[in-house]
Amino acid sequence: MPLTLKVKNLTDSGVDNYLHRRDAVVKERYMYPVRHWVVRHARFFERIYRTFEPVIVKLQPLWKSIGYQRAEKPVSVVEKFSKELLFDCKMCGQCILSSTGMSCPMNCPKSLRNGPCGGVQQNGNCEVNPEMRCVWVEAWEGSQKMKGGAQIHVVQLPVDHSLKGSSSWLRVARNASDTQQEHE
Ligand code: SF4
Repeated sequence: MPLTLKVKNLTDSGVDNYLHRRDAVVKERYMYPVRHWVVRHARFFERIYRTFEPVIVKLQPLWKSIGYQRAEKPVSVVEKFSKELLFDCKMCGQCILSSTGMSCPMNCPKSLRNGPCGGVQQNGNCEVNPEMRCVWVEAWEGSQKMKGGAQIHVVQLPVDHSLKGSSSWLRVARNASDTQQEHE
């Protein structure tokens, strides 16, 4: 399907349909292969995450001096840009990629955070979007490549939609800071 779709005399619903089709084409052409590639290299991305997480936490004095609220906007812009490119991130604000084989569970059409539904097809594709591999089949495969892959067995809390759009990175730093203070 061509990436450039011609738009003629579009009504509002026509524009919606156009945007929907355009997004679907971009996903099929670009995002699905990238997501699949990331999962195949989950161990590599796990290493990056394990290196990056302590840095974010160590930068606590900086976040504190700027103020977490003021840091939120620029940090979430950077986070969104980088994670959207690699993981098709939806900025749920409570990232669990390191527990899901680097496959973002928010790309599941049902937003399931604790494993697949009963509709996974025999070829491992999604019942809602048959062109797409099930996010959780990918998650399982990715987790098998990771050192901390057993994390996939941890039961996740339901999504807190009030956190949508916020930075998971800053949340990690803030939680680490709170834990540190509790122990002082
Ligand atoms: S789990 Fe949330 S923050 Fe992490 S990649 Fe998916 S949508 Fe983004």
